[in-house]
Amino acid sequence: RVTIENLYKTYNSAKEVDESQIITNAVLKGINLQIQEGEFMVLVGPSGCGKSTLLRLIAGLEEISGGKIYIGDRIVNELPPKARDIAMVFQNYALYPHLSVYDNIAFGLRRMKNNDYPSNSPIETLLSSLTGFLPPSLRYVNSTEKKIQAQVKTVAEMLQIDHLLFRLPKQLSGGQKQRVALGRAIARNPQVFLMDEPLSNLDAKLRTETRMQIVKLQKQLQVTTIYVTHDQTEAMTMGDRIAVMNQGEIQQIATPLEIYQHPANTFVAQFIGSPA
Ligand code: ATP
Ligand code: MG
Repeated sequence: RVTIENLYKTYNSAKEVDESQIITNAVLKGINLQIQEGEFMVLVGPSGCGKSTLLRLIAGLEEISGGKIYIGDRIVNELPPKARDIAMVFQNYALYPHLSVYDNIAFGLRRMKNNDYPSNSPIETLLSSLTGFLPPSLRYVNSTEKKIQAQVKTVAEMLQIDHLLFRLPKQLSGGQKQRVALGRAIARNPQVFLMDEPLSNLDAKLRTETRMQIVKLQKQLQVTTIYVTHDQTEAMTMGDRIAVMNQGEIQQIATPLEIYQHPANTFVAQFIGSPA
């Protein structure tokens, strides 16, 4: 569960001509939002309304200006991103170009701090690190690596990329790259999954396909999810609930059907395209 209470974000910028004149730009103006355990929440709104800013604050990539963010019962305001147990996927997939699909997905698992994947002994760890550059078939495989292999395989099957595991990112299509990015994010079973317009670089057909895969993956893993988009169709078809945002404020939070049938105001009605 993610709870956001009265969240504010302002950016200060000094005017070039007169540095004493600080311009304060309020980007988020008192956001209240709760995403239930396992829920798929879509955050939708026009360009510049503050969607990415809100996700970055939840992920801890930027400091908040006021309010509270809870993950479960824990206030995470002061916690660094690593300690928040959140995975985030952006629109530009940002895969490691020199690593295979397998190693891209395994990357987060290998780095896990509070080890769900503990190593057997120092010598095993040393050996597997030395052989990390060999193809997987030649590697020294310890029990940690076996668990990682199993998890990579499960995730890759879910996303239908299990036939691509030993390719490099440059040998993949855009849609395949995006599925690898999703796999890498989700592989370590984060408590919260944040996606910021992950499909915007894909063509229409692929977008529809990948959209369905994301929904399926989320349902299988039951991970609490916030999905940002400015696409009304994605909002209406993907989310358990939708939060409609405009100019740094949430306009309405409800199921797609409720929003369509009972938009809270004219902005929501026009943005979602409900009958007047
Ligand atoms: P889009 O759909 O285009 O991605 P968005 O809803 O994600 O838009 P944000 O990126 O959250 O919008 O930006 C919200 C507002 O905050 C915009 O007006 C933007 O110019 C401003 N903004 C974002 N980052 C900064 C920053 N680092 N400094 C100053 N202003 C910023
Ligand atoms: Mg954005």
